[in-house]
Amino acid sequence: MNQYEEVKAEILAIGDELLYGQVLDTNSHWISQELDLIGVRVVRRTTVGDSREAILTAFAEAENRADIILMTGGLGPTNDDLTKPLLAEYFNCAIELVPEALDAVRTFFEKRGRELTPLNALQAHLPTKCTYIPNVLGTAPGMWFSENGKIWMSMPGVPHEMKKLMTDHVLPRIKERFQLPIIYHYVVKTVGIGESWLADLIKDWEGNLPPHIKLAYLPSLGQVRLRLTAFGDNPSELEKDVALQVEKVMPIIEKYVYGFGMMTLEEAVGKMLREKNQKVAFAESCSGGYISHLVTSIAGSSDYFQGGIIPYHNHFKNRLLGVDASTLEEHGAVSEPTVIQMAEHVRDMFNADYGLASSGIAGPGGGWAEKPVGTVWIACATKTKTVTKKLQLTQDRMLNIQLTGVSVLNLLRICILGKTE
Ligand code: AMP
Ligand code: MG
Repeated sequence: MNQYEEVKAEILAIGDELLYGQVLDTNSHWISQELDLIGVRVVRRTTVGDSREAILTAFAEAENRADIILMTGGLGPTNDDLTKPLLAEYFNCAIELVPEALDAVRTFFEKRGRELTPLNALQAHLPTKCTYIPNVLGTAPGMWFSENGKIWMSMPGVPHEMKKLMTDHVLPRIKERFQLPIIYHYVVKTVGIGESWLADLIKDWEGNLPPHIKLAYLPSLGQVRLRLTAFGDNPSELEKDVALQVEKVMPIIEKYVYGFGMMTLEEAVGKMLREKNQKVAFAESCSGGYISHLVTSIAGSSDYFQGGIIPYHNHFKNRLLGVDASTLEEHGAVSEPTVIQMAEHVRDMFNADYGLASSGIAGPGGGWAEKPVGTVWIACATKTKTVTKKLQLTQDRMLNIQLTGVSVLNLLRICILGKTE
């Protein structure tokens, strides 16, 4: 039996400015990360405006879902800020002056050479059921409630004040109050397989995962991250348990896995090239230099990146890269014969081990029945053979460029591995 409790939290962000899109809710994002680190499971994030009904409803709903409710915002001294009176109403208590809080507000103003105004003095009036939590960076105090079997914490919306309160008071109090598990995450990064195909491939393995290890599929452009999360009380054991599961799944998905943790595809490919002391060059038409940009964003890429050209206009596919005029005329720029010549010629031109090429219709205009928007041909010429692939992408120009980038880098990866069959 595990020694730890499963503790659920809800984060409640309060303020009209968040709903109107004037202020980005960075507080919830930061609080989520901090709670995750101490093993508290965030089950919901809610955003409400400065409205009595919305806030009271949010309190009642959060109370049903979570053991800990952390809220930010709505603590100013002005009439639009409602959190404090509504907490008093919700917990059915009065609001009274807390002398210690008044001293703190007065000191805050004195230090800045200003008089305490009656409006600011109101900040020291708090619901009688709360524990006063001092806010040394501002005038709105934190309020900690232990009510109805739940922990409630109200914090100011100003991010640096909230962070200080969380770090100095809230996180230590939560750790003291609950027996929290250790949470250990491990990420396996895959490319070249869609989420549902991947899920199908590993369903037996997934079905046999022990109950303390959870799996999440995190898809992004042409890639899927598999995140294993283990809960327990012994960090080194969790690490071992997860490593064992990764070892089991790897043989099934090996050809799609390019890295672990934070590694990016361009880093992974760069590392492979460096280890083999091999060089690469790019002829990018529809990707317009985007792939070269990705590759050269990695420090030390001059070890393997020889260079590239962007032969955008057909004339320069012929003039700069030596693609036959007859090939261009007969098959068009977006065709297999064209990318083959582009890849082979750029490889030779830059004296590289691999020449990569892209040519496609990025859109939104320019497609036709035979070659609709999103049609892209890519090629990788190695020293001994040239591999091509036709992609059928989307209607969105930027997405097409980015997806071409992922596909070209993956094709390069497969060629470096020699697994082109
Ligand atoms: P308040 O406590 O509602 O007076 O909020 C003070 C200020 O903090 C607001 O005007 C916002 O600029 C900022 N703020 C409030 N909530 C958030 C949030 N969830 N994330 C980031 N900033 C916030
Ligand atoms: Mg506000």
